[in-house]
Amino acid sequence: MVKRIVGFLLALFPSICLAAEPISVVTTTSDLAAITKAVGGERVKVESIAKGFQDPHYVEAKPSYMRLVNRARLIFSVGLQLEVGWLSLLVQGARNPSLIQVDLSQDITVLERPTGPISRAQGDIHPEGNPHYWLDPRNGILMARRIARELKAVSPGESAYFDQNLKQFETELSARRQKWEERMTAVRGREVVAYHKNYEYLAQWLGLPIIGYVEDKPGIPPSPQHVAEIIRTMQQRKIKALLVANFTSPSIPQSVADKGGAKMVVLPASVGGEKGIESYGDLFEVIIGKLVEAFK
Ligand SMILES: [Zn+2]
Repeated sequence: MVKRIVGFLLALFPSICLAAEPISVVTTTSDLAAITKAVGGERVKVESIAKGFQDPHYVEAKPSYMRLVNRARLIFSVGLQLEVGWLSLLVQGARNPSLIQVDLSQDITVLERPTGPISRAQGDIHPEGNPHYWLDPRNGILMARRIARELKAVSPGESAYFDQNLKQFETELSARRQKWEERMTAVRGREVVAYHKNYEYLAQWLGLPIIGYVEDKPGIPPSPQHVAEIIRTMQQRKIKALLVANFTSPSIPQSVADKGGAKMVVLPASVGGEKGIESYGDLFEVIIGKLVEAFK
């Protein structure tokens, strides 16, 4: 009898009855969550550990995050040691033998990859190269493709759906990217200074040469000598903008900008980093708007 009812329901609503639970995904950052939502649509349930207004280098490995990872099928990370201080703690604490861990940096052309042996002797938090690659929309497409591949591997029956979402994501993002590049034509080539190496990929994409960093070594507060030197460089080269992520404490960058004669341009670095940034595309919309405004 039960069999017959199930058979009847299947015939009537095949898609509803066959649809299993959505795939449970945890991402280390909100950008990965936004891309996963775009590709996975209603067939994924996504939670991000780091919030968009947090510095992803420094996240506390809370027990509540371990519980999220415990229930997840997939965990997507940025890799390149961005999450080195907390991801392995979460995964160990989660005790989830069926968890699939995916490091999305594997498909990316990494900037500033050191050629010598990897060392933290200088307090460098980018020992495998610059991990802030999501701030170039061309990398967003590579990330989306990888995410689609992983979702399809977990749920092959839904491949067509994921492929369709991926195609839509790529088409929309590429169209918007052209518009962003057009808006930036007047700004292209203008030299800037930055605080941390968050915006290296963004700057390379947009053709904004970053001629110096306030932070001498990533993750280490700058020495007074280095600060004095960067201020001198800014004055000599008439630098107009100092780029700072919105989770950076503003006191040092503000004083460097003031003394160097530049404007401090505070930028979001992730989805959710500011009100209204809900999708991966929104992130660039806001960043480009602020850059164009800064050079007016
Ligand atoms: Zn960094």
